[in-house]
Amino acid sequence: MRATPFDDDKLREECGVFGVYGHDDAAALTALGLHALQHRGQEASGIVSHDGTDFHAHRAPGLVDSIFTEGDVIARLKGASAIGHNRYATTGAALTRNIQPLYADLAFGGFALGHNGNLTNAQTLRGQLVENGALFHSTTDTEVIIHLMAVSQQGSVPDRLTDALRQIKGAYSLVALHAGSMIGVRDPNGLRPLVLGKLGKAHILASETCALDIIGADFVRDVAPGEMVLIDGEGVRSCRPLGPDQPKRFCIFEHIYFARPDSVVEGTSVYQMRKKIGAVLAAEAPCDGADVIVPVPDSGVPAAIGYAEASSVPFEFGIIRNHYVGRTFIQPTDQIRHLGVRMKHNANRAYIAGKKVVLVDDSIVRGTTSRKIVDMIRAAGAAEVHMRISSPPTRHSCFYGIDTPRTEDLLAHKMNVDAIRGFVGVDSLAYISVDGLYRAMGQDRAGAGRSYCDACFTGEYPVALTDNDNASGHRRMTGLNEKRVKQ
Ligand code: AMP
Repeated sequence: MRATPFDDDKLREECGVFGVYGHDDAAALTALGLHALQHRGQEASGIVSHDGTDFHAHRAPGLVDSIFTEGDVIARLKGASAIGHNRYATTGAALTRNIQPLYADLAFGGFALGHNGNLTNAQTLRGQLVENGALFHSTTDTEVIIHLMAVSQQGSVPDRLTDALRQIKGAYSLVALHAGSMIGVRDPNGLRPLVLGKLGKAHILASETCALDIIGADFVRDVAPGEMVLIDGEGVRSCRPLGPDQPKRFCIFEHIYFARPDSVVEGTSVYQMRKKIGAVLAAEAPCDGADVIVPVPDSGVPAAIGYAEASSVPFEFGIIRNHYVGRTFIQPTDQIRHLGVRMKHNANRAYIAGKKVVLVDDSIVRGTTSRKIVDMIRAAGAAEVHMRISSPPTRHSCFYGIDTPRTEDLLAHKMNVDAIRGFVGVDSLAYISVDGLYRAMGQDRAGAGRSYCDACFTGEYPVALTDNDNASGHRRMTGLNEKRVKQ
């Protein structure tokens, strides 16, 4: 449990959401959708369905293919509407009661909610709600929305939800279910993705289009920033109840790393975008005399193809990944993370030995992965090892739903590029520039058409970090800040 409302271990979650309205196999389709969205969260999953009278729920830790294949789980999730959620949260928050969709019996009846993103004033609101007698069941920021709805003076469910969301700051793509309808909402800046799809007469909501593809649903459109869609027997109604339009600030890291490459995000193929980024990286940071471009699998692959094409150097899978090991980054301790990297990758010697190798990866966060990979490539006999990164240095934490560690744990916060080069152990290291990244994405960062949040690279946060600011104030008052730095 959190010691204070401003506990340092801020809960950060990476998540995927999915929902079906109007299909006899709603729960099974939702399980499939969650399976396609597994990359967005591997710690736990849940589905809440509604059969016209009752709600049914199943939530468990683990991967989707183990959770929903057990016994008669899907058969028990009756009904023609269902919402689901995949979740990954940082250490300390891995509690069963945090597994979403959350469910509550409110004055108007049952209400289920799945949330992708992080709220930036949830701890502050939570403190106020608790002072007024609210009893929180979980430690997830999402529960604040339900408590605000419970005390709302508004009548209808969408109005109560709107009332709650007007008090909320941060990133949210939501799927919600109540007896009357399924609701999808995206925060006013559109930080996290949410798409609308159609399968026959059924309506679908999903974090990414790859989750529509798995069930053979058609992509209809992105839910717009600040838009609420109400889906019921009458079809889809759209409204924009969250106040004046805000500048769109879609998470740039979804394109660089987080979204699946086969998804179309904000109208653009993630794979194609990554290739373009790789091509700009090649122009900005060529590696003269390179023999081979090797991606760090899997996330570095499209950028490495773009880099190789643009520099006319052969692309080879110089590292082979064992697909039966989970993502290294998600293991909770550093020790296991080290072990995970060794289990996961092996050098393909035939394409490495004696070669001047250029490794391409999407990002360096703590540097653990890169260091191990570089050691492995050197051990396989590479003549030289160079590294190119298809994002600018990650110098700032994300507070909107990507699990970057605390700022002080980010390698690029502590070191300049040359020091990182030494730490990682490569002959040369270069990152794409912020301007180059925007160019690859067809935008000018300084121009009016800019539509991305790049806070992890620039520190320019588009939405106020209320909890964090309060926490800094709290730490300043109590000296906690200084204590942590010294530890
Ligand atoms: P690190 O070892 O901490 O430097 O992690 C960097 C590796 O983790 C890169 O190869 C990325 O592909 C991957 N990565 C970067 N950000 C994330 C994230 N938020 N969640 C999971 N993996 C990530």
